[in-house]
Amino acid sequence: MAGITRVGVIGAGTMGNGIAHVFARGGFPVVLAEVEQTALDRGLSTVEKNLAREVAKGKLTQPDADAARARIAGTLDREALAGCDLVVEAATERFAIKQALFQELDALLGTDAILASNTSSISITKLAATTRRPDRVIGMHFFNPVPVMQLVEVIRGLQTSQVTFDTVKALSQHLGKTPVEVNDAAGFVSNRVLMPLLNEAMFAVMEGVATPMAIDQVFQLGMAHPMGPLTLADFIGLDVCLDIMRVLEEGLGDPKYRPCPLLIRMVDAGWRGRKSGKGFFEYPQK
Ligand code: NAD
Repeated sequence: MAGITRVGVIGAGTMGNGIAHVFARGGFPVVLAEVEQTALDRGLSTVEKNLAREVAKGKLTQPDADAARARIAGTLDREALAGCDLVVEAATERFAIKQALFQELDALLGTDAILASNTSSISITKLAATTRRPDRVIGMHFFNPVPVMQLVEVIRGLQTSQVTFDTVKALSQHLGKTPVEVNDAAGFVSNRVLMPLLNEAMFAVMEGVATPMAIDQVFQLGMAHPMGPLTLADFIGLDVCLDIMRVLEEGLGDPKYRPCPLLIRMVDAGWRGRKSGKGFFEYPQK
């Protein structure tokens, strides 16, 4: 792959471990950097489980799965990212966290390296402007579960160069994904359209219009959605949904993006959806 031989991924959570998985499966050595040992261990064991599932389904041979796992090196030391040609940041959805990471990576990586963010909603243009390589900053927005979902929204910041865009587009195709080009605006296309739907479903629960189960049934049975909006919100993570609604509200400046007060209360209670065992539905923890 032109110019990209070693890849870094930041964050081993829901998205980061899946991103590490698809790059390793695509033949790239991957450095997976975390801040928490437990999150790193959980992320690596999720990769192992998902690779085993692909073997069981006949999508991957056992030797290929073993080779993919062996390509991922987990670390708590971000200096280990120094030799990477591309780093995909999949840390928590907060501008301050991403800005600090981008500035650190900008100082650490070679001058030609590309900095990509998997952000769901934060401005790529604004992140790029905090570095000395704004032409080599881009959005590479994968979808959950990453090893399964086809789409990568490739987001051009105002400063992103054509070479950077072409490299990331070709790389996405090499990983077996379908890149779709999107310009930089809060929430891009996917979350600008999806999140208000999920947020409105939460208002419907809060106002007693219907139960979460009934709302999900309307979308599954009436609109052929594979998953209802509240199951989907639990799957994405209610904390992630709230962060995205706040970015839409601030970035687009329209009160129609106001986060549902029930969502705020649930996140305050620690009910973050599937990953915490409780959201709009219950998920018994193994
Ligand atoms: P998550 O909470 O599951 O994982 C985030 C991980 O980042 C955590 O394990 C945390 O310990 C780690 N982290 C935080 N700061 C770090 C740092 N400085 N260095 C290294 N690791 C750090 O969150 P997620 O759902 O995986 O989301 C990650 C990013 O992907 C966010 O920007 C989110 O908006 C985006 N995203 C999420 C989804 C989804 O469905 N969950 C889909 C597309 C994009």
